[in-house]
This record gives sequence, C-alpha cells and structure tokens, in this order.
Amino acid sequence: MSKSQELFERAVKRIPGGVNSPVRAYGAIGETPRFIEKADGCHIYDVDGNEYVDYIDSWGPMILGHNFAPVRESVVQAAQNGLSFGCATEIEVEMAEFICEHIPHVEMVRMVNSGTEAVMSAIRAARGYTGKSKIIKFAGCYHGHTDAMLVSAGSGVMTSGVPDSAGVPAGCTQDTMTAVYNDLDSVKTLMEQCPDQVAAVIVEPVAANMGVVLPAEGFLSGLRSLCDQYGALLIFDEVITGFRLAFGGAAEYFDVTPDLVTYGKIIGAGMPVGAYGGKKEIMQMIAPVGKVYQAGTLSGNPIAMAAGLTQLKYLYAHPEVYKNLEEKGEYLYGKMTALLEKYGKNYQLNHVSSLASVFFTSEPVVDYTSAKTADVHAFAEYFKYMLSKGIHLAPSQFEAMFLSNAHDQAAMDETLQAMESYLMSC
Ligand SMILES: *Cc1c(COP(=O)(O)O)cnc(C)c1O
Repeated sequence: MSKSQELFERAVKRIPGGVNSPVRAYGAIGETPRFIEKADGCHIYDVDGNEYVDYIDSWGPMILGHNFAPVRESVVQAAQNGLSFGCATEIEVEMAEFICEHIPHVEMVRMVNSGTEAVMSAIRAARGYTGKSKIIKFAGCYHGHTDAMLVSAGSGVMTSGVPDSAGVPAGCTQDTMTAVYNDLDSVKTLMEQCPDQVAAVIVEPVAANMGVVLPAEGFLSGLRSLCDQYGALLIFDEVITGFRLAFGGAAEYFDVTPDLVTYGKIIGAGMPVGAYGGKKEIMQMIAPVGKVYQAGTLSGNPIAMAAGLTQLKYLYAHPEVYKNLEEKGEYLYGKMTALLEKYGKNYQLNHVSSLASVFFTSEPVVDYTSAKTADVHAFAEYFKYMLSKGIHLAPSQFEAMFLSNAHDQAAMDETLQAMESYLMSC
C-alpha cells in the first residue's frame, strides 16, 4: 500500500472525508488523494517520492512558483520576532500603503484571513453603506462558503435563493439573487424586480470556479453601467484574478472599475490571508470608525504579511512576470487546443493568461449551464492518465489550471506530451 493510501485511511477516521477542504478529496475522480511532502518551483512531491508538474499551485497563491526563496526567507526572518501580537504593526501599514498606492480603485483596505472572510465582510460593508439588503451573484461563481453565498445553482434566473448546502437556513439566502453569467439581461430583470433593494452585484470577473469562463466583451462594463443605473455597488471577487491577470487584477486587465474588491490566495503567498478594499467612503463604514462590525484576532498577522508583501512587491517590481505568464499561457494552452483539434476532439479549452480549463463538451462554455454539459467521467479518465504521467491537475472538471512563473519549457512540453499520448489512446 502506498504511504498516501495509508495516510488517507488514517485521515478518514478523524477528519471528515480525510481532508480539511473538500476540493482535495479526489471524490469526483475515484482516486486516493496524494499526500504532499514538499514542493519547489513548478514541481510537487508526494510522500511516496513521486514527482509531478503541478498545475494546482495551492489554487493560485504560488504565482512565482513553490518555495520561492524571497518569500520563504521573509517568513523565517519575521518569525524571529514572534508569531503574533494582537496589536498594530508596521508591516500592516506597509501592506495597506503598497496596495493602495498601486491599485487606483483601492483607497483603503482591510486584511482578513481568507477569501471567504473577505467576501463576507465586503458584502456586509456594501449593505451597510447602501442600506439595502439584496445581493446579485452569478450561477457557477464561487465566493467562499459564507451562508449567503452558498447559492449558485438553479437553471435560469431565480428571484430568491435556495441554499446549496445543508445547514444554511433559507433566511440566510433569501436576499441572494442568482443571475446568469455573461447575460446582462438576467441582471437587469432582477434589478427591475427589486427596485432600490439591491446593495451589490458580486462577480468573479473571470469565472474560475465552474472551470474557467471568460467574461464576454462588454459584460463587465455592462455590469458597471447597470450598477450605476440602479444604485448598487459592484464587487469584483478577485480572490483568483487579483495580482494574477495583472497587478491590478481583472479590473486593470479589462479596464472596468469596481466599488469594492476582494483578494485572497496570491495576497498571502501561501499564508492564510484575504483582504477587501475599495472606495474610502465605503471603507469608512467599517468598525471602529463606522457602524459595520468586522474583526479578526489574527488579521494582519505579521508572518502572513511578511510573506504576502514580499510576493506583492516582487510582482510589482517585475512586471515581466505578467508578460511571461501571457506567453506561457499562449504556448501551453495554444498547443493543447491544437492537440484537441489534431485528434478530432471537439472539446472546449477556455483560457486567459495563466488560467485555463479543458471542458469535455462540444458546447462553447460561457456560463454555468453550458459548463454543466461537460462529461465528468471523460474528465476523470483524462485526469487519472495525466496523474499517472506525473502531471498534477486539479481533481475536478470545474477547476482551473494555474500556470506559475516557474513553469518552464521542459515542464510544459512534458505536459503536452502526456496529453498527446492520452488523446492518441482514448
Ligand atoms: C478561493 C475563492 C474564495 C474563497 O477563498 P478561501 O480563502 O478559500 O476562503 C472566494 N472567491 C473566489 C473567487 C475564490 O476562488
């Protein structure tokens, strides 16, 4: 029995499903999760000594590659002074200044400990600021596991949310309305049904949690106009896209300005960090200055700030990283698309910069309904084959591939070779 198998058998006895986050469970694939010992650059190593080219990248934070030396060293150094004080520190000021100086639509920012917390807090701020209750989200967009956001399904437009999860009372989601991604009319309809009640529209500016789905031309700017027209705030959930598509995230990449933005993943460089920020007028609603309460014992933790700020400073000082990621994406995902064509597979490959998904469907994937047409069994076969060839993909049809700056030509070519031999045999 492999050591991963042994660990998994121990884990399921004491941890629900054997994992501390469901996406790690390989449940959709019918495999045992690989237990990881270490990672470096674009490679990850399991406890059985297998090496893989990694496209999970901790779900995004490792944009500079695993075990990036400046980040690691900043953590080691910061740890010498103690792990947490529960008091204000200089590095929190530096982090806030750095973000606000380089991202024009963030005038003030508050640190939290996860993307979930960032979204939960941004929504509370939006409701506090506007004095309205309703939130519009999009089917297939993930915004963390806070009660009000655990509504995604429902074909078409729903006026009142039905929770996706047990344990979420209907009352917690009654103000969550679901629109269709890339469909401005579905948003307009909801706005008109509830005049003067919509506090905010929240969107993943590139959807990356139903697989990667790109915003159609005019979708994001259309949301901006609708929000202005109906007096709602526009929240970009940039937990994946922030500091990834560009330093200023999707807002910069697509040149659309949100009122509030949420960050996670890259901002902590692997430490548990999230943040939300935006217009000063809105952020001034937050306690202790305003009436919207939000707090956190470990928020702005000095070790986490050291890691995150080191990574952000590196990214800002090396704008070529973004050019590299575009080029790597063009190369790898372009060649993958060509391979699908070469072997007559009418599958969809959606990609922007370093993010991509192959959907095992012949339908163009533009929203949740079309994403759901993908054949998850076909994906599972592909996934298992790739894993056996040393390519570590996210174990679900509905997740993204993450390229990092550490993915080199050799790793990408190894990936292409594995994919080609799969397509030849399937
Ligand atoms: C990962 C993710 C979240 C939740 O972040 P956690 O740190 O897992 O709580 C929220 N929004 C988006 C877009 C995400 O990808």
